[in-house]
Amino acid sequence: MNCIDNKLKEELLELNQYIYNHPELGYEEYKSSSAHVELLKKHGFQVEYGYMGIKTGFRAEYTNGDGPTIAYLSEYDALPEVGHGCGHNIMGTLSTGAAIHLKEHLGDTKGRVVVIGTPAEETDGAKVIYAANGAFDDIDVALISHPFYKNVKSGISFALKALRFTFTGKAAHAAAAPHTGINALDACISTFVNIGLLRQQILPTSRIHGIIKNGGTAANTIPDFSCAEFYVRATSKSYLEELAGKVCACAQAGAAAAGARLKITEYETGNDNLLTNHTLQDCLCRNLAKMGISDIEEAGEANGSTDVGNVSHVCPTIHPSFNIMAPGEEYSTHTIEFREATLREPAKEALAKNVCALAMTGKEIMDDAHLLGKIKAEFKTAVEND
Ligand SMILES: [Zn+2]
Ligand SMILES: [Zn+2]
Repeated sequence: MNCIDNKLKEELLELNQYIYNHPELGYEEYKSSSAHVELLKKHGFQVEYGYMGIKTGFRAEYTNGDGPTIAYLSEYDALPEVGHGCGHNIMGTLSTGAAIHLKEHLGDTKGRVVVIGTPAEETDGAKVIYAANGAFDDIDVALISHPFYKNVKSGISFALKALRFTFTGKAAHAAAAPHTGINALDACISTFVNIGLLRQQILPTSRIHGIIKNGGTAANTIPDFSCAEFYVRATSKSYLEELAGKVCACAQAGAAAAGARLKITEYETGNDNLLTNHTLQDCLCRNLAKMGISDIEEAGEANGSTDVGNVSHVCPTIHPSFNIMAPGEEYSTHTIEFREATLREPAKEALAKNVCALAMTGKEIMDDAHLLGKIKAEFKTAVEND
């Protein structure tokens, strides 16, 4: 497979620039999703626009007989203030470009090339809804890569649960009749103390962090209502469940001690941890090397959560990062400098090379049943052991 021709390169740079020019927040990506859809249609993909009830989501498919299904995940949401400070303009363009390039070089290769447009990565990620509703059930492998200031292999991310504890007590005058009140704030503070103690006995790779949203209205009134919100994070789904149970017990104990009533809810969509498929990552590395990219770092420890995690529990997935900077530049994501870097020459060159490597990876998997078998075997073990 040759690298992309100038015509496709121009179309992709145009898409990158257009999405940069029209930054849209999660679930409002009308122009951005439509630009992806138009380009994919132009290249012969069948598109379902408005996917699984999400207006700015889509699924584009090109079928060439019976064979494996390779999905490229396309993100295109922006941030408040900094627009495409996370570079999802170039990120989505990479996935859509790889799918088009693969489709145009299928030759005798049999199977399906799919692009799934996945809105709102920065907020309430659509991949969670997609994964829960079976969007990835017929996908053999899913590929995505994030722009960054260096090339990094796919690693791990935190599984996340967002827990809200609301405590209801009974108001009373804090000086005249404190004994008649039930202090909901006390329940909340006990919860924080209990969780603080719990932290000594948890795996060091976990995180528990929270805030008090409501803690009463006046110092001379016993608070009858308080509310705390926590993120609980762990590097496996099974440990997250165990840890979330213990965090809830901390709140229950706090409520019991104060005599308050407790309500527990999940106030945001959680994420699963990312299960990187190393066989798939190795395959991408081989193809990146063919494009002259071999300075790829190993991933470090988990440092956040992503909705790609949920995909990775349904089908073999990787979520590496690709370098879009000039040598010596190290702008971090969510900044204006990072946003500007997505339009410069090093980013354009990185885009073209990564499009080719991702497309070649897809083709290699479609052509090599043994390789796909190895990827699937690793996936099965990883899910069972998580
Ligand atoms: Zn981001
Ligand atoms: Zn991002």
